[in-house]
Amino acid sequence: MGRLEGKTAVITGAAQGIGSLMAKAMADEGAKVLVTDVQDTASAVQAITDAGGTALGMKVDVTSNDDLKAMVETARTELGGLDIMVNNASIFATIKPRPFFEISDDEFDLIMRVNARGVHQVMRAIVPTMIKAGGGKVVNIASGTFYYGPPGLSHYTASKGAVIALTRCHARELGDMNIQVNAIAPGLTESAGVRANDGFDMARGPTVATRSIKREMLPEDLLGTLLYLASSDSNFVTGQTLNVDGGKVNI
Ligand code: NAD
Repeated sequence: MGRLEGKTAVITGAAQGIGSLMAKAMADEGAKVLVTDVQDTASAVQAITDAGGTALGMKVDVTSNDDLKAMVETARTELGGLDIMVNNASIFATIKPRPFFEISDDEFDLIMRVNARGVHQVMRAIVPTMIKAGGGKVVNIASGTFYYGPPGLSHYTASKGAVIALTRCHARELGDMNIQVNAIAPGLTESAGVRANDGFDMARGPTVATRSIKREMLPEDLLGTLLYLASSDSNFVTGQTLNVDGGKVNI
């Protein structure tokens, strides 16, 4: 029996990249998965159903309260509930790194709106359903950039710092409702989007060199930690951010 058997998981930003693999990993463990993104989720859903899992796809913009209301409704009525929420949606792999003094107010606001306020909006939308069900699990995808502040990504790094802060605050506010809220801080991960963006090329070598485990990080490296935080194995863990980065950051 899978570790997430009988559970329904919802994941944002999962049409492709790390999110699509996370969606499949949860389905492989028995969860019914609602795969959401602003992009078309058909191929991510297909990968799950081809492997014998249960998934539905849906267009959801995490900055749209209407979309989020529909997302919760679909999870409840089509998949039987909402036990696990993975906040993965983010503007990341398409970013062209540049010095902070070249980042416009509009670009800064956009990154904060999607990456940070989006988590706030999702949480506000899902929490009544989780409370009614007697509990739940939330896994926020933050970033190791928060700990070392890489040049060129100040707006993104600030947004992920906010995700870590929200993780702590929401964990405190939801502890008595049996909802555990934790985060994963991945290191530079060779997702399809990162591979396609030559803006990350100069970070790759130095990143690998400063890890304890000196190799490139793959999306698959995140899945064990995701399943731990999404399952009952982590029932007494909340408000934490786990670095999964080959030992680059020692906090
Ligand atoms: P990615 O940019 O390829 O994927 C992000 C997904 O979010 C995309 O599918 C995109 O369509 C979706 N998205 C963007 N705006 C959205 C919105 N408003 N509403 C809903 N969905 C939206 O990134 P990735 O490399 O697959 O990374 C996945 C997660 O891991 C992100 O949260 C990213 O910040 C984080 N992360 C990635 C790395 C890395 O090196 N790849 C490192 C640390 C953290």
